[in-house]
Amino acid sequence: LAEVRGIRKSFGTLEVLKGIDFEVPAGKVTALIGPSGSGKTTILRSLNALDLPDEGIVRIQDTTVDFATLRRGRHGHAVGESAREVVVLRAHSGMVFQQHNLFGHRTVLENVTEGPVLVQGHPRTEAEQEGRELLAKVGLADQADKYPDQLSGGQQQRVGIARALAQRPDLLLFDEPTSALDPELVGEVLGVMRQLADEGRTMLVVTHEMRFARDVADQVLFMDTGVVVEQGAPADVIDHPQHPRTQAFLRRVL
Ligand code: ATP
Repeated sequence: LAEVRGIRKSFGTLEVLKGIDFEVPAGKVTALIGPSGSGKTTILRSLNALDLPDEGIVRIQDTTVDFATLRRGRHGHAVGESAREVVVLRAHSGMVFQQHNLFGHRTVLENVTEGPVLVQGHPRTEAEQEGRELLAKVGLADQADKYPDQLSGGQQQRVGIARALAQRPDLLLFDEPTSALDPELVGEVLGVMRQLADEGRTMLVVTHEMRFARDVADQVLFMDTGVVVEQGAPADVIDHPQHPRTQAFLRRVL
């Protein structure tokens, strides 16, 4: 469904991604694991062009963006952010952030319908009906008219998932969606993610939850210092890692 080829990205003199290649198979869950600062978030942000890599290619469905070309621009003018391909690439994916980023002055339902109505131009009544269905799906049917600060952290993250789903994305991107939660709230969010995996959604999940990666992921990528060091089935990468860096990381976190 999606692929990443030769992605490189530096922030100033710090090279954060040093040539990343992988595929995200349709209908499968890919878990991205690795130490803090290894570049996992930057990869997610590259996939939906929240960060523009310096070079490399991202393809989602039939949309391909070649970032080196994009940056060079057409007719000598930098194109960047506003390029049509970037807008189309973004429309293919829905992101769930570490912090939910909900609008505090909007109700839960309004947070979910905002994108479909304002960005995608869907009729409000239709978006509200779908929004209520999505809230029911994440177990929040009775919270639609509340404001985000009236909900627990786990409920807020589930609203974030409903909001991502409302964009009808081909690819769901999760950036450590449980890492800011109190331990007792982690399970309800992982439960919703398992349910989405069971439905056959295509998901790329940055996570520190090794049990979730082992049980739910079809493919695990281990990243360290800007490269994918090892990838494969969870039974291989997590239970029988081959690379010394993967072994050292797993010894620390398991
Ligand atoms: P974590 O698990 O802590 O979220 P990560 O693997 O997701 O880590 P990234 O967030 O991708 O890592 O960051 C990789 C490196 O890039 C880090 O050293 C980070 O400080 C740096 N970095 C990320 N974004 C920026 C930015 N906008 N400007 C400068 N440096 C950045």
